[in-house]
Amino acid sequence: MRGSGAMDGLRIMDRSSMDLLFEALKRRGFALVGPTVRDGAIVYDTLDSTADLPVGWTDEQDGGTYRLKKRADAALFGYVVGPQSWKKFLHQPVLRLWRARREGKGFQIIPENDDPPKFAFIGVRSCELHAIAVSDKVFIGGPFQDSSYRLRRENVFIVAVNCGQAGGTCFCVSMKTGPKATAGFDLALTEVLESGRHTFTVEAGTERGEEVLRDLPHTEATERDRATVERIVEKTASQMGRTMDTTDIKNLLYQNLDHPRWDQVATRCLSCANCTMVCPTCFCSTVEDVTDLTGEHAERWRKWDSCFTSDFSYVHGGTVRSSVKSRYRQWMTHKLATWIDQFGTSGCVGCGRCITWCPVAIDITEEVRAIRETKK
Ligand code: SF4
Ligand code: SF4
Repeated sequence: MRGSGAMDGLRIMDRSSMDLLFEALKRRGFALVGPTVRDGAIVYDTLDSTADLPVGWTDEQDGGTYRLKKRADAALFGYVVGPQSWKKFLHQPVLRLWRARREGKGFQIIPENDDPPKFAFIGVRSCELHAIAVSDKVFIGGPFQDSSYRLRRENVFIVAVNCGQAGGTCFCVSMKTGPKATAGFDLALTEVLESGRHTFTVEAGTERGEEVLRDLPHTEATERDRATVERIVEKTASQMGRTMDTTDIKNLLYQNLDHPRWDQVATRCLSCANCTMVCPTCFCSTVEDVTDLTGEHAERWRKWDSCFTSDFSYVHGGTVRSSVKSRYRQWMTHKLATWIDQFGTSGCVGCGRCITWCPVAIDITEEVRAIRETKK
């Protein structure tokens, strides 16, 4: 997939064209998934029409804090990111890998007939595009590819949205992952609510994005429209709730594995694993085998796991990371340092979810700052 990143092909659509976009994608066989309000949060789930979007809602976020609030307008994308990410559609939380049936003295493996829907992701933010690109490296970037991920990923149509506001825990500017979508989308929108008008600028990043766009009424953007997009993303960039100094961060962490800050954070961390569950790039999983009572059938399931569980590092009768300190240090040094050696990129895209959804408000940006200020 390619994103032009240029403003040359910028077009303008009105609000009603969003309904037509949904219809155009459905006609092409896509199952629409995107943001919707449920249980007091904005989650990602199947959508039928634009009425399912969080129309007129916004969110307030800070360390350990998330709250929905009504907006004064009918914005479709007037919030930041919620507890869920696109990971749940591409790297499923629970997946059966195979079944087995007893055959005489042996058994026969019955492979899974995986036939996922063609997804259209609606409302993907720039940090999330970067998270998907990171996951692509992890799951399908090397010689050993995850077939389940590949099957889901290869058909995804991505409708990105440039962020019109930043959240209290966002730091995509520090991680150079936002707030403007520059690559990895089929279509990229900017929502504009000004002077009593509700419009969207739209840019195609791929041929199939361009092809869908031909079904939608639109006009060419003017210089003023282009300036409006730049103004919106610049304003968002100036609102970041958090910052992280990433200068030589890999060596900073490698050289401070014995820093006293790890003991300090361990006194607060509950090892609850929330930060890894909400993180769009964390990919740890475990496998579980189950049999039925007759002993005739067995199944192997893959489930999300976390480096914060003691079982995850259980090897030959013992847990390698038995302390909370060692688990938090493993997680943060993997995200920000060893990930770079492993995949050539940071494992953190600055979405802020781990800060918002940590029940005791542990803040990865604050932990980096504390280590940097008193480094060896
Ligand atoms: S840092 Fe927070 S979210 Fe992560 S395991 Fe510790 S308490 Fe849970
Ligand atoms: S480590 Fe935290 S801020 Fe970074 S990508 Fe994961 S959830 Fe987002």
